[in-house]
Amino acid sequence: MQQFADAKRAYPDAILFFRMGDFYEMFEDDAVLAARLLELVLTSRNKGKPDEVPMAGVPHHAAHGYIARLLELGYQVAICEQMADPATVKGIVPREVVRVITPGTVTDRDQLDASTNNWLGAVEPERDGAGLALLDLSTGELRAAMARDLSALLAELGRAAPRELLVGGAPEGLPEAVAALRAALPGAAVREDRALDDAEAPAALGALASDAAGLAPAARAAVARALRYARACNPGVELPIAYIGRWEPSDALVIDPSTQRHLELALSARGTRDGSLLGVIDRTRSPAGARRLRRQLLAPLVDVARIRRRLARVEALVNDPALREQLAQALAGVGDLERLSTRAALGEATPRDLGAIRDGLVAAKQAIALLTKLGGGATLGDPLFEPASADTLDELAEALGRALVERPPAQPKDGAVFVTGYDRALDEEDELRRSGSERMVELEARLKRETGIGTLKVRFTRVFGWYIEVSRSQAGRAPEGWRRKQTVATGERYTIAELDDLADRILHAEERRRERELELLGELTRRAGAASSRLRALSALLARWDVAGALAEVAHRFDYVRPEVDTSSALLIEDGRHPVVERLAAAGRFVPNDVRLDLEGERLWVITGPNMAGKSTLLRQTALTVILAQMGSYVPARSARVGVVDRVLSRVGASDDLSRGESTFMVEMRETATILRAATARSLVIVDEIGRGTSTLDGLAIAWAVAEHLDAAIGCRALFATHYHELVELADSSEHVANYSVSARELENDVVFLHRLVRGATSKSYGIAVARLAGLPESVLARARAVLAALEGAPPGSGGPTAKAHLGGRGAGQLALFAPPAAPPSHPEIIETLRAVDVDRLTPLEALGLISTLKARL
Ligand code: ADP
Ligand code: MG
Repeated sequence: MQQFADAKRAYPDAILFFRMGDFYEMFEDDAVLAARLLELVLTSRNKGKPDEVPMAGVPHHAAHGYIARLLELGYQVAICEQMADPATVKGIVPREVVRVITPGTVTDRDQLDASTNNWLGAVEPERDGAGLALLDLSTGELRAAMARDLSALLAELGRAAPRELLVGGAPEGLPEAVAALRAALPGAAVREDRALDDAEAPAALGALASDAAGLAPAARAAVARALRYARACNPGVELPIAYIGRWEPSDALVIDPSTQRHLELALSARGTRDGSLLGVIDRTRSPAGARRLRRQLLAPLVDVARIRRRLARVEALVNDPALREQLAQALAGVGDLERLSTRAALGEATPRDLGAIRDGLVAAKQAIALLTKLGGGATLGDPLFEPASADTLDELAEALGRALVERPPAQPKDGAVFVTGYDRALDEEDELRRSGSERMVELEARLKRETGIGTLKVRFTRVFGWYIEVSRSQAGRAPEGWRRKQTVATGERYTIAELDDLADRILHAEERRRERELELLGELTRRAGAASSRLRALSALLARWDVAGALAEVAHRFDYVRPEVDTSSALLIEDGRHPVVERLAAAGRFVPNDVRLDLEGERLWVITGPNMAGKSTLLRQTALTVILAQMGSYVPARSARVGVVDRVLSRVGASDDLSRGESTFMVEMRETATILRAATARSLVIVDEIGRGTSTLDGLAIAWAVAEHLDAAIGCRALFATHYHELVELADSSEHVANYSVSARELENDVVFLHRLVRGATSKSYGIAVARLAGLPESVLARARAVLAALEGAPPGSGGPTAKAHLGGRGAGQLALFAPPAAPPSHPEIIETLRAVDVDRLTPLEALGLISTLKARL
């Protein structure tokens, strides 16, 4: 308990897993908490005595799953191990915390998503802005930036979606900052980080100190916080981080978290990957490629030259389908070199991991060889087009290839790791062990002969070692000199000097072999670990090509076109489509539409049209096309010209944020406020059905004022979908506003959606027709038509009274609505027949016959 108390004092915030034999035990508050979270039995130690403490435990071999569960809930777990074999120690076994596992610092493959970075974030707010550091220990990547203001910070955090976030800074505002970030990042474990004094920072930065010197003070402090935390979680381990990457938030197209959600970029509204844009375009073949694609999608570029470089890579692969296919196959064999390399650097690589590095390097070399064949005419000046100079780590590949068996085991103890002929000493021990086993077989044959005992066996078990077993019935015939070792149900077990001798030799050979194997394994792991920066560079190069190949594949398969990206003020999309809707909801019958916005000309389109016509789809597809183009992808259109956009802002759909206790209308207004504050003339704004959550006149007034503000004060490109037909009048007063509508045709009481955008406004919502499609009862629909007719008949501006007077005499529709529903039809004889059926006795054929009879009667 003294040891426990010491460890707990050193790691007060973590749940302490205290190793005792085959269990990890938890004590005191940890035990009470873990018992509840993990549904463990809560017991106690020293029961009934004054020093009784609560206790709960998990078997060490099952700890993995329990730890994963605790991490999911945002907890930290400190692993306190026995540092020596209890059998060889007198008194209490020494124990130490060897690792603290936290959501943002796990490196265990089973607890990571291969296609997503696992970021630990650190934020250092200061007067104006905040320093931000992102550390992915699993890939060895560390990045730092300064965010100008809260919205920039939230945008960066929204893209990275860290699993864990440390918040530091001045103690005054800290609790508020933590609360705000916790609300903004529901998926992250947000922690208040203790003060970081000037003396501590250099130690935390370690070898990265000189690299960090160039950072702004707040960014440097954030980096130091992330590193201090990661170091504390991995005591005594050299972190596999070679340098600090920097990024400039303004280099990326800004997509704030709510826009990212609205547009369903990485996750669909249902929270699945299917149904998101990423789900459609992710055809990458390697985990590092998948991670890269996700990052590019959430942080498209604004620099035209860089965008064009990316597009040129995609184009090169679109134009060479055969090479693209071969490249895809090679990349599929590369595996996760990036994460494997950090596992090696952390000394965590298993024999299987080393085998995976070997195989990955072979595949990487093939991929590089293919890339050197890629035509490079249009691609001058792109460093990625000189793959011939790529470092393929041939010596490491060769060393691993020479050493390892084809399929190395998951753990060293699971079997042979090295090929015969790799190491003389290892082979010798192996030979001794093997010949020893052969000698045992010979011994068994000889003893059988000498004693004449037919059932005699020489065998081995882990617990008792080697022995001679004689069945019970023949036990009397065992010679004098044999020593009895053990009596078992099936017979007697003996040993003799010769057997002990031989057993010793085998055992020693086995032990020495194991030692040698671990030694060699350590050497090889260190070698791979030492190459981890080079491995990561190779992985990064291939990840970029993986992304280009995936986007080329998507472009080819789904018929996308290379967008023209420039600094013009235009956004021209000819026959544009929604990349997700055309694949899923409207597969095979998607109606393409044109959008032509221009800052100098018509820059704000007011789009009216019935419900379900496709307004929201058009708005989103326009935003998605811009995002795709600026991330360097082809786009779903016949042609597209995108004058770069600095941020995409959206206000889409009605979503109640009940968990945050906000009404739909409040959320709507908050998002609108963000848009109006953040939009610049170079932004693309899409506003979908604003003003729904309040009274009609209120809503119309707000929508009107917002549209006017976008046009006159901000003057950006914008699409404004609305059900307030009154807004079409805006076009009369501004040359920059145009009216469009999505057409529908009415056939009797039915409505047919053409999904085609046409110039001009519509005046009808077809709400009742849509309600009919949705299956509202006919009586309700009839009544709605009557009410509508009455309201429309009322003179404009007169509001309620006239309409009410008109509706005063309640007609037949009203009565029908309140009439009791007709009794459901009853068919007593059918019910009787069904009651009488003995289902268990019925053959399938009889059952079919029965259904047919019943149906006929009905
Ligand atoms: P609105 O916002 O006008 O009510 P939506 O954009 O939500 O309409 O579209 C309703 C449905 O119509 C979509 O879910 C989609 O299945 C279909 N749809 C929309 N646009 C198109 C289109 N251009 N071609 C084919 N189907 C479409
Ligand atoms: Mg809509």
